[in-house]
Amino acid sequence: MQNIKYDIIIIGAGLGGLVTAALLSKEGKKVLVLEKNKQIGGALQSFGIDKKLFESAVHYLGSLNNGETLYKLYDYLGILKDLKLKRLDIDCYDEIILNNKSFKLAQGHDRFAETLSQYFPNEFKGIHKYLNEVKNVCSHFPLYNMRIGSAEEKQQVIGKGFHALISQFTHNDELIQVLGGNNLLYAGNQQQTPFYLHALIQNSYIESSWKFEEGSAQLAILLKDVIQQHGGDVFRNQEVKLIKEENGIIQYVETTEGVQFIADAYISNMHPDLTYQMLDSNLIRPVTRKRISATPLTKSSFMVNISLKENQIKYRNHNIYFHKSEDVWLDLKRQVVDDPLSFGIFFYQDKKNPIYASAISILCYNDFDAYQQWEKSMHTTTYSENRDELYQTYKLNLMNYCIDAVTEIIPNLKQSIVKMDACTPLTYRDYLNTPKGSLYGFQTNVDDLANTTYSTQTKIPNLYFTGQNINLHGVLGVSITALLTAADFVGLPYLVDKINLHATKK
Ligand SMILES: Cc1cc2nc3c(=O)[nH]c(=O)nc-3n(C[C@H](O)[C@H](O)[C@H](O)COP(=O)(O)OP(=O)(O)OC[C@H]3O[C@@H](n4cnc5c(N)ncnc54)[C@H](O)[C@@H]3O)c2cc1C
Repeated sequence: MQNIKYDIIIIGAGLGGLVTAALLSKEGKKVLVLEKNKQIGGALQSFGIDKKLFESAVHYLGSLNNGETLYKLYDYLGILKDLKLKRLDIDCYDEIILNNKSFKLAQGHDRFAETLSQYFPNEFKGIHKYLNEVKNVCSHFPLYNMRIGSAEEKQQVIGKGFHALISQFTHNDELIQVLGGNNLLYAGNQQQTPFYLHALIQNSYIESSWKFEEGSAQLAILLKDVIQQHGGDVFRNQEVKLIKEENGIIQYVETTEGVQFIADAYISNMHPDLTYQMLDSNLIRPVTRKRISATPLTKSSFMVNISLKENQIKYRNHNIYFHKSEDVWLDLKRQVVDDPLSFGIFFYQDKKNPIYASAISILCYNDFDAYQQWEKSMHTTTYSENRDELYQTYKLNLMNYCIDAVTEIIPNLKQSIVKMDACTPLTYRDYLNTPKGSLYGFQTNVDDLANTTYSTQTKIPNLYFTGQNINLHGVLGVSITALLTAADFVGLPYLVDKINLHATKK
């Protein structure tokens, strides 16, 4: 048993755990964050190939312009000034390539509408109606706009699916496909994904789109510094395996090394299913555990990371979503084992010669089930089991498949490769402890919102959740949820007022 008693222990130093901890530390709470990995950050981990820095997940983030929500929150936390960010091209944050045509999605609502209308001149009205609905839906989410509101507000706009709503604005299938062309950002499918999920994410990038100049891990490190400056602790290599309840409240958590840590309250940044699996308590009913365990997950992914020869491939200051199929949703409707049809392509700028890319990453959907034969093996930097030749061959074949596919739009890709490696669904499962390596955790279903959305609070009064499974995933979504979790301790109006006051003083 550790001697220090904390006010709050947070399990997991992902973005959710770290933002929650930073907010609570600033409120004078003595916080401890326990992270299982050697590197903090969860999906914000960066790593090297050929001495170049790659993102494990996060390639871009939105709503970071002066006055926007993430700007306000990160500025309040004191980390904004130190974040090294680069704005993506104003007239194109995402390029959707479909049917051998290229469509640009631009930053700024007016520019977004103008740019799209050039490709679809007859859909001018539909595009404006779509954008108005995006703005309308987003305005019903109070915290997304850093204001206080009521739960009823959201109820008015959450009940429609992407396809059901979008078809009210346009019947032009190509336009609908383009609007859904970056669905890798939410891994939904057009029938079940609520329109609001699409709207919150698309809108954040329309507001402003940014990438990290020196790796997303910098965000995790800055948050850790805030926690430590305010007297908190962040311990790495501490995997929690047991959460012990007695007399109606959590008494302690225990790590795989058998060390127990105690606090007044506990917050899990893990997937709720995993949290409940390690929770020793009868207070969470079997039916609840079963329901959570059965809630469908978003698909997993495969990411090829390629270090490039110098001066070969032009740097694009935007991302590309390239679809080989006419249906941008097809990979979400079928098992993707070794033949993905949609690809997200992300460019890293060469500092020495900025018109060229030093590296690129290719992301696609990939089903966890394809990895069943290696499911029992585990591989991280702290715990490493070698996977057999077959796994390496499978990985290499899929990397080559992706490269061949993308060669259609980047012709000299193959001959420009210096070194490459890939993250598979098993990599994501092992490094993030996400069930089945799922991209974004629970899959929100518009027809079953009550069973696919979860609260920050649990039946146990001193056990809470934070992170991507609650409310919304992504850097913006997880940061907003962290605010909600922190508010469980200090009050939401108080915290939101403080953040807004800080913003107005500048
Ligand atoms: C491939 C991919 C690409 C993405 N791209 C983008 C993007 O471009 N832009 C964007 O905004 N979002 C993106 N996202 C989504 C975004 O990264 C996530 O929604 C967000 O980072 C999740 O943060 P989190 O804190 O909820 O979870 P995580 O980052 O998963 O953090 C959970 C943490 O808990 C730790 N943990 C788990 N179990 C234990 C345990 N038992 N004991 C101790 N610690 C434990 C994990 O090691 C991890 O550090 C992407 C995600 C993926 C997977």
